[in-house]
Amino acid sequence: MAKTKTTTTTKQISTRPPVVVIMGHVDHGKTTLLDYIRKAKVAEKEHGGITQHIGAYQIEKDGKKITFIDTPGHEAFSAMRNRGAKVTDIAVLVVAADDGVMPQTRESIAHIKEAGVPLIVAINKTDLPGANLERVKKGLAENNVLVEGYGGDVVTVPISAKTGSGVEDLLEMINLVADIAELKDESKEEFEGVVIESSLDKFRGPLASILVKKGTLAVGEQIKSNTSGGKVKALISDSGQQLKEAEVSTPVEVLGFEKVPQVGELVHLQGREVAKVETKVETVQRRNPLEALLTNSSQINLLIKADVAGSLEAIAAAVEALGDETHKINIVYKETGEVSESDVLLASSTKAIIICFNVKVTKGAEKLAEEDKVMIRPFKIIYELLDELKEGLETLSEAKREKILGEGQIIATFDTSYGKIAGTKVTEGRFSKGDRIRIVRGGEEVAQARIKTIRQKQEEIPLAKAGNEFGILFEGQVDFAENDKIVAFS
Ligand code: GDP
Repeated sequence: MAKTKTTTTTKQISTRPPVVVIMGHVDHGKTTLLDYIRKAKVAEKEHGGITQHIGAYQIEKDGKKITFIDTPGHEAFSAMRNRGAKVTDIAVLVVAADDGVMPQTRESIAHIKEAGVPLIVAINKTDLPGANLERVKKGLAENNVLVEGYGGDVVTVPISAKTGSGVEDLLEMINLVADIAELKDESKEEFEGVVIESSLDKFRGPLASILVKKGTLAVGEQIKSNTSGGKVKALISDSGQQLKEAEVSTPVEVLGFEKVPQVGELVHLQGREVAKVETKVETVQRRNPLEALLTNSSQINLLIKADVAGSLEAIAAAVEALGDETHKINIVYKETGEVSESDVLLASSTKAIIICFNVKVTKGAEKLAEEDKVMIRPFKIIYELLDELKEGLETLSEAKREKILGEGQIIATFDTSYGKIAGTKVTEGRFSKGDRIRIVRGGEEVAQARIKTIRQKQEEIPLAKAGNEFGILFEGQVDFAENDKIVAFS
């Protein structure tokens, strides 16, 4: 019998370097870890330049590149996400082994979960005599991060950012998680970047560090963001070298903007209008958060702060109980104590309303809430809050009832030369060309889109009615799958 060939699991997929963010509680060692990795790895590279801080840096581990955002913590992470930029591919949560899970660890967990990025836990300071790995793992499990040995598969790597022990294992794990995530290589697409840092330099003018998300950026190209634009005069790498081109996942400092662009803005080549329109919609929505939140999908997000743990739990339970199948009430975070800037950032990126009971709002939080258009609602009595919520839910239900034009179920999907088609059966009402629709999966809205064309047996038709089966082509890229529900609304 012929010997069967062993098939290797290495698939020939082209991916891009992962972009990693380090999060965790203050003093747990985020900066020390970032510094250690940079020093250890950059020394291995041969370069003539001088290491400079541009908001991110890139290293190589076993021939694979990894990009680290070098502003630790969730502030930078949320600032970018708030402006719609999905920058991070993997989050490393640093937890000090001598301290365990602390408030900012919990906040980081909430941010990571909300962003839906893979997570690796680095248990740091294992060189200290008070290090207790089990306590960290137990603390994580209590916060729904189920690590290996605690009923889950979240990977933990014991490290010491001070001595460097375990850091190579952590980098290996990042490569492994990146392989599993099969990050889409978008190097052949048109350039798109995200501003990760910006400033005004007395001598060099407006500076912006950009992380290349798609395509390549080259010197001489005309670029623009929502608030600025210009011609790329120079590209400088994290090791201080002048580059002609910056490739996908590379952080690079760009000289040539006419004004300082904002962190989190998307940057495109001139001639593109798409990003502008999208952000406009966002600013309009954010100007009136209550309206946006209440007309927003099927989930209402709340962040609750109260003076004592007892009332916090009571409020949370009462509020959650108000939700129903169509409108889920989701508490993104709850804690005792004043409303801080981190609360506002979390609320901003989760589009949540901050509800507070008998606690102060810090000046910084107030200012940030105003800038980010986050609503902070103080209450003294729980019933006032419940009444307002009920009223909001009723308005929302009415608005929804009025608007629905048709409902259908995706029964098959087809890839064709003109795009991916959703084979749909109309269950109620009707669907017509140009309709705005929602895609609903497991009761949750996953996307909104517009119907480009409707076809029945190759023929384009203007309208499909209940009982009909037909194929829908959407405008633009839309995430849909078999068994999703489609709802057309006015
Ligand atoms: P960050 O606030 O999370 O960025 O924390 P830092 O990186 O500034 O670290 C806080 C303190 O912990 C500093 O004094 C570090 O020297 C110390 N530190 C960080 N990592 C380790 C470690 O692995 N072992 C020990 N013994 N100390 C550490």
